[in-house]
Amino acid sequence: MSRTLLLGLDGATFTVLDALMEQGLMPTLRRLCEAGVRAGLQSTVTPLTPLAWTSLLTGRSPGHHGIFDFVRVEQLAYHPHFRLATSSDIRCPTIYSLIGERGLRSLSLNFPVMFPPQPINGFMIPGFVPHRHLKRAMHPRSLYDRLSAIPEVSLKELPVDFEDERRSVQVLAPERHEEWIRFHIRRERQWSNVLHHLMTTEPWDLASVVFDGVDKLQHACWRFIDDGLFATFGASPWARSVRELCLDYFRQLDELIARAVELAGPETRVFLASDHGFGPSDEIFYVNTWLAQQGHLAWKDDAPVAPEGYINTEGMKAAAFLFDWSRTRAYTLTPGSNGIYLRTGGAAGRAQLARQIVVRRVMTREEAFPGPHSHLAADLTLVLRDFGFVSVTRSEAIVRTRRDVAGVHNPRGIFIAAGPGIRRGETVNDLSILDVTPALMHSLGEPVPQEFDGRLPVEIFEPAHAVRPAAAVPARRIHAPDEVPAEAAAMAAEGEATVMQRLRALGYLE
Ligand SMILES: [Zn+2]
Repeated sequence: MSRTLLLGLDGATFTVLDALMEQGLMPTLRRLCEAGVRAGLQSTVTPLTPLAWTSLLTGRSPGHHGIFDFVRVEQLAYHPHFRLATSSDIRCPTIYSLIGERGLRSLSLNFPVMFPPQPINGFMIPGFVPHRHLKRAMHPRSLYDRLSAIPEVSLKELPVDFEDERRSVQVLAPERHEEWIRFHIRRERQWSNVLHHLMTTEPWDLASVVFDGVDKLQHACWRFIDDGLFATFGASPWARSVRELCLDYFRQLDELIARAVELAGPETRVFLASDHGFGPSDEIFYVNTWLAQQGHLAWKDDAPVAPEGYINTEGMKAAAFLFDWSRTRAYTLTPGSNGIYLRTGGAAGRAQLARQIVVRRVMTREEAFPGPHSHLAADLTLVLRDFGFVSVTRSEAIVRTRRDVAGVHNPRGIFIAAGPGIRRGETVNDLSILDVTPALMHSLGEPVPQEFDGRLPVEIFEPAHAVRPAAAVPARRIHAPDEVPAEAAAMAAEGEATVMQRLRALGYLE
């Protein structure tokens, strides 16, 4: 068994990182690749942050863990309602619980859907929690006061403050880019400071953190980060300064990776993984507009229309308030899930609708998310040409060209492993995000539960370390199906408008 460090880089892709490594901007990452194994990492069917990280932390596919979106959609009699998905919606134990029962201690920082925190054997600060909920988000609660007393930790800078609309990515005015990037540089440093504090003062077996500025910057600044794209337009001094700041973000991120790896020591195995990759998109598919044109959906008369070529959702209401429910049979509520819900029609209706849609792929929920909880997913899941997210807003055209090329999620993320027993300097075939959990369990000297949906990637280990220990850990449920603890209720009960505002701040609403 070996201590194990998991560094999550939200949305990281080798198309960006390889260029940065070649330019000498990420020497630590390059060293880890050279000293270890690298592979592309295939994300969940919908390459969306909450599903994908939950799969990585549980070793289970979304049909088993029950998270399909940032939100949980409840089908009410008259119209659907949604709330933020919380840890109470996760139907399988996380790796922290699994190894905690075996006496191993974990540090878990900034992973989504971990609120309210489970009482793990160790320390947890969930991600995506606004500052005003942060105190009750920590496990144990005393951690908040403890961190408050540390001069180099600023708890206010840990979360993205979703209440602050100025942080909104999609309406980022040119003069806001620099502030936005600097904000994320400071934030990553804060998470690194917390990690540093816990790694040096507490015993741990698995230390894990997500640096999510990678995703945030790529959403807002893809055209400044992508080398080829930047070359086509990047002449202005302003564009060059935005690009320099983006590069500085990655340079500083590399320093934080170095800091964590050094602190962990040479006997610790290091894993880097992203929840999904990133790529360019130059078009927007207005799925609800298409559904309306096909006669499946009706807008209320006062539903605002998206301005052409310019993404501006300021003042947009949650989609649910924009539909005339008496005449709506199929609809999409949120952009990230790319999911269409049907109110009537059953399997025949779904098949008929699926045949009409002109996208890369349309999957029924049983295809996309097989498992006992697939009924909680949307009826149909769309995979778009560029793997991006649909827009849920009203528009005059079904597909429009974006004013600027944007960064959107892509299924191919990154995987890097290095340390004792890991092969050196090899690139292996793409892994599944579901294979990371067995690798972590194996690294920790723990048996891989048979219920896991991935496989132990033996090819990343030296032969002597690759023996697969067989063991069955019984399937369990950590909560009764619809029980939402009071802890979760506070955040989950936030209105749909607030939830939409958060999604907008995260870059998922357009
Ligand atoms: Zn993500």
